[in-house]
Amino acid sequence: MVVKETEGVFVDILERAKALDPVNSRKWFEKLRVLHFSGGLLEIGCPDEATVQYLRQKCKSSFTRAAQQITGHLIGVQFDTDGGTARQLRTLPTTAGPLLRLHPDYTFENFVVGPSNRLVHASCVAVSQSPGSTYNPLFIYGNSGLGKTHLLHAVCCEAKVRFADAVIQLLSCEDFVNRFIRAIEEGNLTSFHNQFRTVDMLVIDDIQFLRKREQSQEEFFHTFNALYNNGKQIILSADSAPSEIPSLEERLISRFNWGLVARIDPPSYETRVAIVQKKAHLRDLDISEEVAEYVARKVQANIRELEGALTTIYALSVTSGKEITLELAQKAIKGQNESSARHISITDIIEVVTDHFGVRLSYLQSKKRSQSITLPRQICMYLARNLTRHSLEEIGGHLGGRDHTTVMHACTKIDRERRSDPQMKATLQQLSRQITESLQ
Ligand code: ADP
Ligand code: MG
Repeated sequence: MVVKETEGVFVDILERAKALDPVNSRKWFEKLRVLHFSGGLLEIGCPDEATVQYLRQKCKSSFTRAAQQITGHLIGVQFDTDGGTARQLRTLPTTAGPLLRLHPDYTFENFVVGPSNRLVHASCVAVSQSPGSTYNPLFIYGNSGLGKTHLLHAVCCEAKVRFADAVIQLLSCEDFVNRFIRAIEEGNLTSFHNQFRTVDMLVIDDIQFLRKREQSQEEFFHTFNALYNNGKQIILSADSAPSEIPSLEERLISRFNWGLVARIDPPSYETRVAIVQKKAHLRDLDISEEVAEYVARKVQANIRELEGALTTIYALSVTSGKEITLELAQKAIKGQNESSARHISITDIIEVVTDHFGVRLSYLQSKKRSQSITLPRQICMYLARNLTRHSLEEIGGHLGGRDHTTVMHACTKIDRERRSDPQMKATLQQLSRQITESLQ
């Protein structure tokens, strides 16, 4: 196939891949190019490693299907960095340290700043410009879906550009704990220490998952000290302030407060409109201001849901072949996100949960601690935290006057189970649906 022809085919493949998987398609797909196309293999060149990782994880099957549909042949697809980055990588020292898996969308450029996140954003920018010397540690916290993970990736991305030689480690708390456990099992603690105590920047997401009285918390404590004493940057995120994380030891709480603790709040209406527009642009989507405003009004609490709504609209537009109008947007997200549009009360939640588990409210409010009572009680707390705007104290108050740390603990526990246990995930989804439906 001559080059010109290949390019034309590739444009078609890209278009098809976008249509097959609108959720994961992005504007920057335009930057992809063909490295090699022969022998049934299409090698696609990407500008950097982050893009390669994204495409490998999320888009391999849609690209493969697209390539097969367009060419009518059985074609395999591979993603690789193209020449530009290969040159850039060579300038990194051979001991470049851990492979940073950054999300290509999660940059400062793609982050919309508003009153709710201005401080957090500014502190992240400052740290990325002079790691170790501004705020150390930097601790950012806020509810789920407000942009913490996005900002952590952005800091790493920026720091990597500014300090090509810096060794940066970014991982989730779960990952840290799992790697530690594996190191113990394999008798490999020294290499674990080397891996984490020698970096220039350690970034751990969702640190609320460190468990009390477990060795991993002790290990993290020593890692923290080693890095801090050497002036290395530490950045942490969590769903609440250090002192509100029930599983954290006092000595860690105090250390986390040594630097800057910054909170990220739910975005204002104007910020939400700007975010919808930014996300639409990223997906190369043309949406009117009217549609952006509609989405921002419908979805209030959580930006992940905001994106979800946009995805639903996009998907409906692709499948129906219609332009994105206000009418189409209304049709797409009708009935969705009622949770944030209407007000769910704790009583609504308690009714559905008690009904589901066949327990009485008085039991949930009692001091009983048997599993059959504790679980529904904790689920009530979790759902109340996620579906209402009530504070931890208020939620605890409704459930027998429990204090906020108990509620926090319940939320953390249920959230962890939701991630690891598909059954729990399904139960929570079903309950949330029932609660939303009960309002209609
Ligand atoms: P968290 O880690 O706090 O749960 P994430 O960082 O995963 O939240 O954010 C959820 C989604 O919302 C991501 O896709 C992220 O890009 C997006 N997001 C959050 N805040 C913003 C913002 N201010 N501007 C643009 N996108 C945002
Ligand atoms: Mg996160």
